[in-house]
This record gives sequence, structure tokens and C-alpha cells, in this order.
Amino acid sequence: MEENIPELGYQYSALEPFIDEETMRVHHDKHFKGYFDKYKKALEAENELSALDVQEVLSNLEKVPESIRQTVINNGGGYLHHRFFFSILKKDVNFSGIIADKIIEKWGSYEIFKEELSKVALNVFGSGWAFLVLNQNKELEIVTSKNQDSPVSQGNKLLIAIDVWEHSYYLKYQNRRNDFVENFFKVINWEKVNELYQESI
Ligand code: MN
Repeated sequence: MEENIPELGYQYSALEPFIDEETMRVHHDKHFKGYFDKYKKALEAENELSALDVQEVLSNLEKVPESIRQTVINNGGGYLHHRFFFSILKKDVNFSGIIADKIIEKWGSYEIFKEELSKVALNVFGSGWAFLVLNQNKELEIVTSKNQDSPVSQGNKLLIAIDVWEHSYYLKYQNRRNDFVENFFKVINWEKVNELYQESI
């Protein structure tokens, strides 16, 4: 297992005004780190599992002892999802490439896709995530999850993740999750999503 969470890799203020610097600091340095620390602690005595990437662990939950399974689902999920989330954010990247072709093929247009993914994100009751994934049939699919339950546990590959836990938007947006979700679409790094798609097919 890694010693620590990865650095953000860009400035905390890089996504302003859509995601504010203070939220990025708390979200990356505190929340993300918190999940990682608890996940690491849970696997302290599990040498075989610790040697695997968290994505592999969550894809093979039956290998995780029952006594720590829920802790691994919660904190391993939190670790993986945040590592993923921060890695696909960048301002001013155009919707283009093969992923754009595939999205338009499936949903008809970018606008309809955006509407569908937004609707799912807004309908998450309480804490959770909305994802674009490549499912086991290698088809694009919008899925949602509660808390930190991970779609990778059902064999999906993550392509886009929207964090709709309040901690990801409350400092700036308070209860206006819809404004946060609307602005999230302005910080999707489509180049990165294209790379992920190419690696997953
Ligand atoms: Mn979060």
C-alpha cells in the first residue's frame, strides 16, 4: 500500500470559481486523508490485501475477512473514490475524443447525457456518488452509490465520479447541490476520461 495519499497534482485554487480553494484543501487534505488512514489501519494485519491496490481489494470483497469488510467498504471506497475524483478534475477541457463519440452514440447528445447524470446526482438521498462507468459488458452506464459503496465491486470501471457528500460542496454552495452539480461539468478533465476509457476497453 502507498505510504500516503497522492498530492493533488495541481493548485488547490485551480478549479475556482467552480470548486473553491478552501473546499479543495479540506476535501483533499482532511476527508481523503481520513479515509486513507482508516483504510490503512484496517489492513494493518492483512499483508496479502495490503499488497494489492485498493481497487483490486474492492473488486474482490470476498477475500476480505468479514470482521473488517464493512470498514474496508467504507474507507477503502472513500480512498479509491477520492483518489479518482481529484484525478479527473481540470478546467477548460473540451468535451471531445472517443468518449464524446460514445456518449453521443448512447445518449444522443452531450446535453441529454449531462441532464441524466445531473438528475442521478441530485437524486442521491443523503451521502453518496454518481458515476459514469464502463460496465462489465463494456457499455457506458450512469450508476449511483450510497455512502462509499463502490461500483468497482460489481466489475465496473470508473470514468467520471461526482461526489455529492455535503462535504464536497457545502462551504461554497450550502444546500444548493444543483449549482454544484451544474458547475462540476465545467471541471471534467475530458482528456483524462478519454485515457481511462481507452485503458478500460
Ligand atoms: Mn468527498
